[in-house]
Amino acid sequence: MQKAKLALKTDVSHQSIVQISDTVAVGGRDLLIVGGPCTVENRAQMETVASRLAIASVQALRGGVYKPRTSPYDFQGLGIEGLEILAAVRDRYGMPVITEVMAISQIEEIAAYADVLQVGSRNMQNFDLLKALGQAHKPVLLKRGLAATIEEFVMAAEYILSHGNPNVILCERGIRSFDTYTRNVLDLGAVSALKQITHLPVIVDPSHAAGKRELVADLARAAVACGADGIIVECHPEPEKSVSDARQALSLDDMVALVQSVKAIATAIGRSVPSAIEPLPQLALL
Ligand code: PEP
Ligand code: MN
Repeated sequence: MQKAKLALKTDVSHQSIVQISDTVAVGGRDLLIVGGPCTVENRAQMETVASRLAIASVQALRGGVYKPRTSPYDFQGLGIEGLEILAAVRDRYGMPVITEVMAISQIEEIAAYADVLQVGSRNMQNFDLLKALGQAHKPVLLKRGLAATIEEFVMAAEYILSHGNPNVILCERGIRSFDTYTRNVLDLGAVSALKQITHLPVIVDPSHAAGKRELVADLARAAVACGADGIIVECHPEPEKSVSDARQALSLDDMVALVQSVKAIATAIGRSVPSAIEPLPQLALL
């Protein structure tokens, strides 16, 4: 890790806190819990997700509108319409939103709507994109590449930091290995290592690691026990009908139960899960 400068801890207490909205931050005592579908499909879907998660200690929403699909024939995302849905739901429920940016040409548009710009695994070493995100005025959630070493991951963060954006959140989401039973292999050793060598918040995506919904909660709890600063989990009102990543999507009930079960682990290791936001007065009128 000799060449990294800005991403590395200067001493054991050096820890960055990244503010993702006026009230939500990651890297401090409070865990960041993010939930939402793989893909934004329509307004009703996102309303259902947000209304349920807002009162269940989930602080932020996820949902892709530009999707990096393996096949060019699969649904590629709603684009600008999806951004409008995310922003409308964010404003209504007071939850910041995270969505993926795949190209430099999308940065300005996405940054105008979203609170956090996600760099997907397939783009972790898209150095021109990383440099451009260094100039964006929004935090970046950088996901680990499918087969990236810890050093390559840290150096990718270094690209964003060295181009001017100090607000980088690392996300371990599993790496490719020989076993096809799980979609990827969650590398909790990397979480621990990243927490030791960098000052950046580190969150875990158990959904893309597991690829199977029945494994997601265990991995999420293990991630929190291991010291992750948060989790980002795919969930959907009708998981089997998800347009992408259906097999790994949790139901909203299971997502709420997962958050509850994480609370006890958080307490045991000196972390906390912030209380649910109070339902906004206008929601009572719905
Ligand atoms: C996603 O978050 O839906 C996604 C495509 O993740 P990853 O880049 O980790 O595969
Ligand atoms: Mn997905």
